Amino acid sequence: MAGDVEVLVRLGLAHDAATDLPRLPAERVAPANARRRALLRRIAGGGGFAHKGTKPHLGPLSPGCVRCGERAWSCMFLNHFCNGGCFFCPDAMDSQGAPPFAERFVFRSPDAYARYVERLGFRGVSFSGGDPFLALDSLVAHVDAVRDRLGDRAYVWVYTNGSAARGARLERIAAGGGVDELRFNIAAWDYDLAAVAAAVDTGLRVTVEIPAVPEDRARLARLLPELARLGVAHLNLHQLMVLGANGPALRARPYSFTTSAVPAVIESELCALELMAFAVAEGVPLPINYCGLIYKERWQNATLELRAATLVAQPCEEVVETGLLRRLWLPGDGAAAATLVARAAASGEPAARWRRDPESDALCAHPALLRHLDAPVADAFVTYHRCLLLGAADGVEDDGAAATHPCHEVDLGPGGRLVVMVVPASPPIPLDVGAARALRAGDTPAALLAWEQVRFGLPDYA
Ligand code: SF4
Repeated sequence: MAGDVEVLVRLGLAHDAATDLPRLPAERVAPANARRRALLRRIAGGGGFAHKGTKPHLGPLSPGCVRCGERAWSCMFLNHFCNGGCFFCPDAMDSQGAPPFAERFVFRSPDAYARYVERLGFRGVSFSGGDPFLALDSLVAHVDAVRDRLGDRAYVWVYTNGSAARGARLERIAAGGGVDELRFNIAAWDYDLAAVAAAVDTGLRVTVEIPAVPEDRARLARLLPELARLGVAHLNLHQLMVLGANGPALRARPYSFTTSAVPAVIESELCALELMAFAVAEGVPLPINYCGLIYKERWQNATLELRAATLVAQPCEEVVETGLLRRLWLPGDGAAAATLVARAAASGEPAARWRRDPESDALCAHPALLRHLDAPVADAFVTYHRCLLLGAADGVEDDGAAATHPCHEVDLGPGGRLVVMVVPASPPIPLDVGAARALRAGDTPAALLAWEQVRFGLPDYA
């Protein structure tokens, strides 16, 4: 694509073909599930469960994590260079000069990225790498561009392993006023806390964000009171999972992996929950947030589709919790459609709340408009569509993908353009009278729950 935004073939977060990963032995499945249930009960005594039970946490979440849960977080990977050498790192991080990218897109200038953030409605922006402190001028330029464009609407944080986030570099970021929070991966340097302590002294919000490494559990338990004493605002514990090129390094350790599309380490989840249960038992005054695979799959991963759906949703359509676009239809040849249009128009409803499909003549109407009908609707149906945010590398400019599905252009200002492609996600789903009545009232009928609502809780290990 010409211009300053283009699609990157995604690197980093896809995982290797990992077919031979060890699974939980059959005799350990039931004990592991019992252990997790017991830990969750102990955590419930001192904390809560956000996002339908997928995110156990003690104390408040960071404002950045709140925005992640709202599907309003963009993460810019500024460089592909780091001096950390973590065994769980998704890549070698040795290619200084790699172009900055966020989500699926490469940005040719800080302003191009800031325009994208604003246009898509992101309110949380983070900078990762590699380590962005090793690309300090670029980091400052991007933070300033986001802050100039969004002002206080954006919450901004930076990830670092801490080795370069010290002295004059740390001062420059703290004094710049654009960054709200620093997140330290202390696992990169053997859990050394010197950089964390220095960052706390700047007055910025400081979070420690690490994977829960099962072999380090006892050591991490001893660290919890120390983090609280230092003034660390949050501890975010991730579940180890197979990302990018880290499969062999994880496979070399004595872990059991989930059978999910992205394999995650079961012992890592149990380690995180054990640390949280320990903090409850010991009364450690440290907010702790567990960020596991299930939360990421169900909430974080829907971010881009939900943002895209929000961009293109018409007043007759609704974006539902799963990030899909829902359309309610009445058959075009039925009396109900004609009556609804006539009465809605006569009562002054905005005409954008309904539209006819040019091919089938079916009427797409906002569910609230069903109140204009006297009789219950018996032949309504619903469809769901997935909204994909695409660029040139996805074939949208060459009659490829764009020829088969409706596309909406997203203008990002000078030289930048993306496309939202709307593709069917469901067949037509018939609604009985009761289901139509529930939709009209703003409720989700049982027949549509699986399409509309994120499932509750953590599934058992298998
Ligand atoms: S600090 Fe982050 S980017 Fe650097 S090696 Fe560790 S995981 Fe990779």
